[in-house]
Amino acid sequence: MTHQQPDERTQGDQKLDSELGARTYSATPEAFIDRVILVTGASSGIGAALARACGSLGARMVLSGRNVGRLEATYDAIIAAGGPRPSIAPLDLERADASHYAVLADAVRSEFGRLDGLAHLAGQLGELAPVEHYDVVTWLRVMHVNVNAAFILTQALLPLLRTSQDGSIVFTTSGVSVRGRAYWGAYAASKFALEGLMQVLADETDTLTKIRVNSVNPGKLRTAMRARAYPGEDAASVPMPATALPTFLYLLGSASAGVTGRRFDAQDVRSDAT
Ligand code: NDP
Repeated sequence: MTHQQPDERTQGDQKLDSELGARTYSATPEAFIDRVILVTGASSGIGAALARACGSLGARMVLSGRNVGRLEATYDAIIAAGGPRPSIAPLDLERADASHYAVLADAVRSEFGRLDGLAHLAGQLGELAPVEHYDVVTWLRVMHVNVNAAFILTQALLPLLRTSQDGSIVFTTSGVSVRGRAYWGAYAASKFALEGLMQVLADETDTLTKIRVNSVNPGKLRTAMRARAYPGEDAASVPMPATALPTFLYLLGSASAGVTGRRFDAQDVRSDAT
């Protein structure tokens, strides 16, 4: 049996430790109180669960999404948990033009003066179909919502993230964002693109700013998107969105200061994509 001394640990070991640490991270209010965090997709699934968790830890939340009724449900849950009163920022990423992004950035600037966290959870599945038969309009919509809109929103909010002592951007990717799979078409291509955007932006911000940029593959979780991707699956066998939250909270709170350019798997399940 060999014993590895701490100074002999490989970079791989350290990355693994850090990922496991993120999965078991237990968030404290100290890491979140007064942090200003915007979550897209805060109306549903993982984004709603993440927004509720950050808000109940004391973060000042900006809830972005398309369905205002469901955003209000997230708002109510944060208030009921004793969190600070969130802001609701409706934004349809399929239809928004430059003025909508500017209005959102201006609203965050005038209400909070800065942004400490930006979590991109909004996303669309599109269709599961072979490339040869993939509907072109659906492809363009998925790429626009999943990639282009995430880029435009990030660009609009970067000046506010730069004013934070400790700004964090998190892109949500997938099991198919590093290895493609038949029939996952635009969804897989869009998630590959997000990994690329994450790496480019992390490299650009690494030395010049305090902003950190990372991506998270949440793993399979019981949401509307998962049900659409796997209609025959027994939903009871799929973990709840809360399972992935420790990794997202680790990256959005102050605990991950200095961690940038990394892809995290929030669960130890890599073979089963959504
Ligand atoms: P949901 O379908 O529950 O949530 C998707 C979210 O995206 C909703 O809040 C939805 O808003 C929002 N959205 C979709 N289209 C638009 C649009 N045009 N403008 C604004 N918002 C939009 O799915 P999940 O919670 O599962 O997905 C969250 C993220 O996690 C996605 O990026 C997904 O790819 C990723 N993911 C999920 C996995 C899983 O197993 N669930 C596994 C791997 C990755 P609205 O409520 O208004 O429709």
